[in-house]
Amino acid sequence: MPGRGSDPVSTNGSKKRAAADETLEGNSSSPRRSKRTRQSANTASLADADALENDEPKKRTKRVAAKGTAVGSNTSTDVKVEQEGSSLVKAQTTRVTEDTGDAVKISVKKEIEIEEEEIQPKKATKKRASKEEKAAEMEPLAARTKGLQMFIGAHVSAAKGVQNSVINSVHIGGNAFALFLKSQRKWDNPPLQDEHREQFQKFCLEQQYDAAKYILPHGSYLVNLAQGDKAKAKQAYDSFVDDLKRCEQLGIRLYNFHPGAVIQSTLESATSRLAQALTKALSVTSTVTPVLETMCGHGTTIGGPLSEIGAVISQIPKEYHSRIGVCVDTCHSFAYGYDLISTEGFKAFMQEFDDKIGLQFLRALHLNDSKAPRGSKRDLHANIGTGFLGLRAFHNVMNEERFQGLPMILETPIDRPNPVLANMSQVKETPEEEDQDSEQESDSIKKKQKKTPKKKPSSSSKAPPTVEDKTVWAREIKLLESLIGMDLESPEFRSLEAQLSEVGRAEREKHQGFYEKRLETEAKKKKKELEKGQKSLADMFQAKKGTK
Ligand SMILES: [Zn+2]
Ligand SMILES: [Zn+2]
Repeated sequence: MPGRGSDPVSTNGSKKRAAADETLEGNSSSPRRSKRTRQSANTASLADADALENDEPKKRTKRVAAKGTAVGSNTSTDVKVEQEGSSLVKAQTTRVTEDTGDAVKISVKKEIEIEEEEIQPKKATKKRASKEEKAAEMEPLAARTKGLQMFIGAHVSAAKGVQNSVINSVHIGGNAFALFLKSQRKWDNPPLQDEHREQFQKFCLEQQYDAAKYILPHGSYLVNLAQGDKAKAKQAYDSFVDDLKRCEQLGIRLYNFHPGAVIQSTLESATSRLAQALTKALSVTSTVTPVLETMCGHGTTIGGPLSEIGAVISQIPKEYHSRIGVCVDTCHSFAYGYDLISTEGFKAFMQEFDDKIGLQFLRALHLNDSKAPRGSKRDLHANIGTGFLGLRAFHNVMNEERFQGLPMILETPIDRPNPVLANMSQVKETPEEEDQDSEQESDSIKKKQKKTPKKKPSSSSKAPPTVEDKTVWAREIKLLESLIGMDLESPEFRSLEAQLSEVGRAEREKHQGFYEKRLETEAKKKKKELEKGQKSLADMFQAKKGTK
């Protein structure tokens, strides 16, 4: 389910539908392709674009936006590779032109088969990776689109050094990216190595990433600056400042973090602790801008309502206001309760942002769809267009002029069931309670540290083994870029919207069910408590009467 929905984006050659369908059928019986072939195929399909028309990026239509030339090096996709992967390329090009419901279903299903066929267990691939295969892995899955005002990318892995994040972003065709500056599981981390820093800066220069503007590191989930406990607060603050200093060493000027949680104190005191910690951190740094992320309001988390973020900023001295920012996470704000789908709702959200925070503080976006319904206060990221937000919300985002020039980061799921291993054991669905209180982590850190430990430990052991599929991000980036200037009423948009919605239908229904059940349970609990209260009141009354 994840990301398959975004497949329709690879439509550069949509005229070859009939031929492609044939090829697809032919393929289903062919032997499993190597990883190299799979990636090459995607490179070809996404990147075999004409030369880029670089004029008036803002008015670019869908088709043009989806094309691109690679920035920097790595532009070549050799002929041999294209031939190897050509059948898949054609397969992918079939998607957008399907408009009837049935046709869509068939097309989606076919593609799933193809993709699953190609995914191999990670370990096996790793062990057998030859030099040639390694080189192929470095080839971009998609070329970066040049000249757009919207800078879209994903939270990529920085495993084995921050410098690798640059390469990983090039790989998926990102014009912006996020990374973790150090391990999210540990408080103690080795300092940033000079060699890694130098390489990071060199790669940024070579690949034309302006580190000051379009790279948005993500803070540790362990850090809660609103923490009331003194020792823990110090630990959080030290780790936070250490991250900020790493940013400054790397030439990065934006740093995203979660506002934290109230836990067992009051919102007022937590807010003022957070503001104080931030002020202190700002006073010991000089160029980096800490960016507060909007949250879904789960538990005692701060930052669901925009007013809570506004309250933090208002307590920071004005002299630092040019160095404090806010990142809107579409999934979080929607799950909290904001309507980002309707034109009026989205407008109202922007207005409230301006009223409660101030648009001058808006510095970044996290682009995630939501598996959980609006108001559920659940943090469950879905692939673009497949969740409750749907493609319409992202059309709003991609056509909002005030978002121009901001880094837009995908944190959508790219883990897919490993077909080989998953077939051997029954796949158990993850219950709703497993919130993604953390973001999509693309490092090999699979089980993330959570602020609040969750109750359900049993099912995670039964979770299906998964493999990462980075083509999901490559396609989602192109999909989002294609929405710039696209007419909401056009058959093109409606078709894309319907296809993606269909891909996520089952998942949405599941989480709608969870949400309704939860509301029911809560209502029952309330009623019981009320009855209990009334009963004890009545008992008291009876007892009083009896003693008379
Ligand atoms: Zn986020
Ligand atoms: Zn999240």
